[in-house]
Amino acid sequence: MLPKSIQNLINHFTKLPSVGPRQAARFVFYLIKQPKKDLEEFAKTLFGITKNLKKCSSCFKAIDVEGLPANPPAGVAGRHGSVSYVCDICKNPKRDKSFICIVEKDTDIESIEKTGRYNGLYHVLGGNEIKDFSEKNLRELHLKELIERIQPPAGHPQGEKKIKEIIIAISATTDGDTLALYISRLLKPLSLPVNKQGIKITRLGRGLSTGSELEYMDEETLSQALLGRK
Ligand SMILES: [Zn+2]
Repeated sequence: MLPKSIQNLINHFTKLPSVGPRQAARFVFYLIKQPKKDLEEFAKTLFGITKNLKKCSSCFKAIDVEGLPANPPAGVAGRHGSVSYVCDICKNPKRDKSFICIVEKDTDIESIEKTGRYNGLYHVLGGNEIKDFSEKNLRELHLKELIERIQPPAGHPQGEKKIKEIIIAISATTDGDTLALYISRLLKPLSLPVNKQGIKITRLGRGLSTGSELEYMDEETLSQALLGRK
C-alpha cells in the first residue's frame, strides 16, 4: 500500500493520454527524488497553466496572456461579461484572412506552420469526437463560433467576411472522418450567401492515408497533403 500522497499523484498522472499506472508510478518516484527547488518550479509552471493560459476569442488557439493587453482591458466586463484575447496569428496583418484551416488541437497548428505552406487563419475545435449532434456538442467543438466567423451576425466585431476557402485538416481516423463529413455538411448551405462564388470547402489530400493522425505526420507528408487538398 503506497502512501496516500504518492497514490494521489499517480492517479493524476494516469489521467494523461497513453500513461498507464506503472508509468505514472515511475514519474512520481522520479519526481520525489528531485530537489525541492525543481519541484516548486514544476508546480508553479503547472499552476500558471490555469492562470495565464486563455483561448483566442476568434480561433480558440491557446495563448499565454501574461502581460498581454486584453480587449476590453482586464477588469472591465466585455460583451459576455469576460475579457477577450486575440492570438498572434489572428492579429497578424500579413496572414491571409480569406482562408480558415480547421484543426483538432493546438499542436496541429504547430505542425502546419512548420511546413511553411499555409498563411491563412485557423480554427481550433479542441477535439475530434462528435458524440452527438446536440447544441452542447456543437458548442464544445466551437462549431457555432466557426459559423459566426463565416457568416457573422449583424454587428459582430470579428467576422471574417470574405472567406474563400475552408480547409478541414482533421485526422483521417474514424472519428475524424465522421466529424469532417459533419462539418462539410454544416458549412455547405452557408457558403453561398456570403460570397457569390461560394466558399470552397476542402480536406487534406494525398499523403493523409486512412487512420493517420496529423500529429504523427512528418513535415514533407503534411506539405503534400496541404498542396493536394481537394
Ligand atoms: Zn486566434
